[in-house]
Amino acid sequence: MINVSNIERFATHDGPGIRTTVFLKGCPLHCPWCANPETWTLQPVLLHDARKCTSCLRCMQACRYQAITFSDGQFHHESSNCQHCGACVDACLNEALVLNGQAMTAEEILKEVEKDRLYYEESQGGMTVSGGEPLLQEEAIDLLRAAKQAGLHTAAETTGCVSPQQFRATAEYLDLFLFDVKHINAEKLRTVTGADPDLIQENFAWITAQRPQDVIARIPVIPDFNEADLEELIAYAKAHHVKEIHLLPFHPLGKAKWDRLGKRYAYEAEPLMNKEHLQNYAEDQVRIGGQ
Ligand code: SF4
Ligand code: SF4
Repeated sequence: MINVSNIERFATHDGPGIRTTVFLKGCPLHCPWCANPETWTLQPVLLHDARKCTSCLRCMQACRYQAITFSDGQFHHESSNCQHCGACVDACLNEALVLNGQAMTAEEILKEVEKDRLYYEESQGGMTVSGGEPLLQEEAIDLLRAAKQAGLHTAAETTGCVSPQQFRATAEYLDLFLFDVKHINAEKLRTVTGADPDLIQENFAWITAQRPQDVIARIPVIPDFNEADLEELIAYAKAHHVKEIHLLPFHPLGKAKWDRLGKRYAYEAEPLMNKEHLQNYAEDQVRIGGQ
């Protein structure tokens, strides 16, 4: 079984053409700007929308595992007690709770993806796996293999932070790598994101040595993290002969999810970065924004 966070149809920024993006759960990193923090765990997670909640306590009463408490009218979820049974979600009359994550077979996922085959054919699109780190779950290979056997174009938005064995095994069934280049300063990368820089470097070097034309380096431009180092990061990607380099301007759109997980979002006060802000870096090989 494959742990899935979400399946998004008609995606237009996750590779060429019209695509279905399958967000897989589990990530070895914990980037403080993450737009999908609900994907970090392999297990399902409970999201609570305080704007919809009336503090009626029905969820707390429905939970048999003491995973929900209230103090001063504030909802609190103890995830270590949670058994992901969904009773609280069913009990809430205001749709304030969502349990994110479900286990699916590769065939079940592919059935969803196949619904838009006509659009892929017309637009040169296909399926993208994202996350989280979509190559982390060993079973991801079953999905990618099945998609290739069905004749679909496949892409992965990857951090590259997986074992070289797993990375190379999945690469056989991937047409395009949207490979994150967050930083090349190993200490900074490790401290801020929790990544293993050696793994990332090894996988990036391997795939760009084999198939540089199938790699797009994606640099999320993050204030106070890598914004001052963009020239260095672009030069690094160019030195690996990648097909293109995409600079992704910072956006705070993940904030609502951090709130719903009961976590503090570190970039609360940081405004959305305009594309124009990065225009000086634009050239043939370097684009501002996703595909
Ligand atoms: S999913 Fe089940 S165990 Fe978890 S908080 Fe809700 S009712 Fe409790
Ligand atoms: S059942 Fe829904 S509305 Fe009631 S306290 Fe729980 S989350 Fe809030």
